[in-house]
Amino acid sequence: MAKIQMKTPLVEMDGDEMTRILWKWIKEILILPYVDLKTEYYDLGLEHRNETDDKVTIESAEATKKYGVAVKCATITPNAARMPEYNLKEMWKSPNGTIRAILDGTVFRTPILVKGITPYIPTWTKPITIARHAYGDVYKNTEMQVKKGSKAELVVTDENGNETRQEIFNFKDTDGIIQGLHNKDDSIAGFARACLNYGLDLKQDVWFASKDTISKKYDHRFKDIFQEIYDNEYKEKYEALGIEYFYTLIDDAVARVIRSNGGYIWACKNYDGDVMSDMVSTAYGSLAMMTSVLVSPDGIYEYEAAHGTVQRHYYKYLKGETTSTNSVATIFAWSGALRKRGELDNTPDLCEFADKLEKATIQTIEEGVMTGDLYMISKLENKKKVDSEEFLKEIGKRLEAL
Ligand code: NAP
Ligand code: MG
Repeated sequence: MAKIQMKTPLVEMDGDEMTRILWKWIKEILILPYVDLKTEYYDLGLEHRNETDDKVTIESAEATKKYGVAVKCATITPNAARMPEYNLKEMWKSPNGTIRAILDGTVFRTPILVKGITPYIPTWTKPITIARHAYGDVYKNTEMQVKKGSKAELVVTDENGNETRQEIFNFKDTDGIIQGLHNKDDSIAGFARACLNYGLDLKQDVWFASKDTISKKYDHRFKDIFQEIYDNEYKEKYEALGIEYFYTLIDDAVARVIRSNGGYIWACKNYDGDVMSDMVSTAYGSLAMMTSVLVSPDGIYEYEAAHGTVQRHYYKYLKGETTSTNSVATIFAWSGALRKRGELDNTPDLCEFADKLEKATIQTIEEGVMTGDLYMISKLENKKKVDSEEFLKEIGKRLEAL
C-alpha cells in the first residue's frame, strides 16, 4: 500500500526521559508504516537545549509560526537537581513557557474518555475542555504587607501626568496586606478569540464565567470583551453550527459543570483555570489521558500531552526494567497535529489516518489491553496489563486492521 503523503511538514519537538522513548516507538510502530512523514525536527531534549544555550527552543517556536502546526514531546523543566544530572550551564526556563510567550497562545486541555474508566463524576460522559487565560491577574501581581497607621491607595498616572486616586483601605488600627492586579484588553480579547475559534473547531459550546457582580470594573471588563467579540465576530457562525456562547457567574458555572454531561469548552480566568484544570483532570481519572493544545490568536497550533516526562519510569527503563507507561496522550498529540495539518493542507487521507489512529488506540483499551495506570482504575472484567512497547504493538495491530 502506498504511504499517505504530506504537503507541508509538521514541526516536531522531541523531548526528554520516558516520553522521548515513547516518542520514537510511536513513530516507528504507528506512524512511519503508514505516513510518508515530513517533519522539521527540533531536539528539545535537555542535553541539546543546554548545548544550544536554549536557542533550539526559540527556533522551534519560530518554525511553528512559519508552518502553523507543531507536535511536542514532554520536556524537563530544570530544577536544582537537574543541574548536576545534565551538567547544565544554566537553569534553563520551561520550554513550554518560552513557546507560549512566542506564540502568545491559549492552552486547551481535553480528557480522552474510554469505556471501563468512569470519571469521579459519572454523569460526565463527554469531555470538558478547559481553557486557561495565561496572562495577568494574581500571577503578575504586586503585593505588600502594610503597617498599622498606613493608608493604601490606588493611584493611576495618565500620559499627561494627571493622577486618579482611590482609597483601598485605611489601616488605622491594624497591620494588613494589599495586592495590585492588572490585565490588558488585548490579552483578554486574544483569549476570547482563541476560545471562540476553538469552539468552532470542535463544534462545541463555549462557557465563560467571572465574578462580575462583585468586581464591577475588573471582572466586568472580561465579561464585556467576551460578549462584544462574540456578538460582532462569532454570533452568526455559532448560530449556523447550532452551538452557543454562554456566560454566567463563576459560582453558578461550577454548579452547572458538576451537573452537566460535559461536551463543551470552559474558558477560565487565570486563577480559575489553574485550580479547575487540576480538579477536572483528576475527576476524569488519569493525567496520562489528558491532551493539551496551545492555540494562538492567529490560528497556530501546538499539540502535546498534558503530563510530564514520567521520570520515575525512565529511571526504571535505564536499569533495564520494563515499564508500563501510558502513551495515549502522546499518540493523541500526534493524531491532533496530523489531522490539523490535513485540514490546513486539504489532504483528507491524513485526517482519516488521524481518526483511525485514535480509534485503534481507544479500541485497544476498550478490548481490555492497557498500561498499568489504567489497569488499576479500569472496571472492565477481562483486562490485561501490558508494557509500554507491547501496548503500542497492540494498537498497531488494530490500526493495520482498520
Ligand atoms: P509526570 O511526568 O507527569 O509524572 C508524574 C507521575 O504521574 C508519574 O510518576 C506517574 O506515576 C504518573 N504518570 C504521568 N504520566 C504518565 C504516563 N504517561 N503513564 C503512566 N503514568 C504516568 O510528572 P513529574 O514526574 O513530576 O515530572 C517529570 C518531568 O516532567 C519534570 O522534569 C517536569 O519538569 C516535566 N514536566 C513537563 C511537562 C511538559 O513538558 N508539558 C509537564 C509537566 C511536567 P507513577 O510513578 O505512580 O507510575
Ligand atoms: Mg494548577
